[in-house]
Amino acid sequence: MRNFRILVCLFLVYVLSVHCVLARVIGGTEMEDMPLDENLCVLTFDDGPSIFTPQLLDTLKAHDVRATFFMLGRMVDNYKDIALRVEAEGHEIASHTYAHKNLKRLNYTKQWEEIERGYHSLTDLGIIPTFMRPPYGNYDERTLQIANEFGLHVVLWSIDSKDWKRLPSDYSKLASAHGHIFAPGEMHGVFLFHDIHKRTVDDVPRVIRELKAAGCTRFVTFGEYMAALADPEPPLLLTRIPRSQNPSIPVLDLPIRESLEPQDESPVPSLLPEKDTLHDQLQTKPQENVQYNLKSIALPAETSLEPSSSKDTPSF
Ligand SMILES: [Zn+2]
Repeated sequence: MRNFRILVCLFLVYVLSVHCVLARVIGGTEMEDMPLDENLCVLTFDDGPSIFTPQLLDTLKAHDVRATFFMLGRMVDNYKDIALRVEAEGHEIASHTYAHKNLKRLNYTKQWEEIERGYHSLTDLGIIPTFMRPPYGNYDERTLQIANEFGLHVVLWSIDSKDWKRLPSDYSKLASAHGHIFAPGEMHGVFLFHDIHKRTVDDVPRVIRELKAAGCTRFVTFGEYMAALADPEPPLLLTRIPRSQNPSIPVLDLPIRESLEPQDESPVPSLLPEKDTLHDQLQTKPQENVQYNLKSIALPAETSLEPSSSKDTPSF
């Protein structure tokens, strides 16, 4: 009997140790449910930096608002000066991988490359990211293992503006992570926008005005939102060593493991997930809906985009 108990204890220790090596994912409902002393709001901008980001920075400065930018390494490489300006003006910079691939469709090595290249695009500029948001909100266990190697927390969002499709008529009516409309004065959370759309950047003054009217007491960075937890439970976040304290670069020892899924051999990085994946995402988790409008965005030469066939049909 005693040996049995020892075995059970050893098993539990093993399970817990395996679990602990994974980076923790901060999802939308967790963000919304976190106990805060006030209604904090985070404006996050994905997929940039772009030629529209300087205008966004001007607007944020005029309103004394700091935001979090989840940058693509490929865009950073092409707009280094803009990325550095974002950093210099006190905003938070996080990684959105390198080329916006659907990580779940990549094998371990390809995933590593996407995350590593995105990470290095920032660190080459002296920017050490703490957070990573996987494109389309898609990730799997391998993503978490790799993110952990780079000291990155995987984070999503709690309120999707769907600015890729059209701008909301009233930002106070955006659905929460739980799918409801916030009561007057209760608005808070982590908002998803994209600074590759001029219309989004043009609309940021209204975003700030309407969200304030809806209850946002302060706009903070994502890291500040996490740190502002009224009751910071250890498992939630910020208990791991930030990369900034240990910026050494992990080395990929190939092959680490076999791919669990067919490898995407497409030579051209695609920004579009497969339809079945999209369906799965819509059924299971928040979806970062990204529509790349060729008329309103200047992209690096190597970027491969496909125009949307319909204005109302998501193009990912
Ligand atoms: Zn994105």
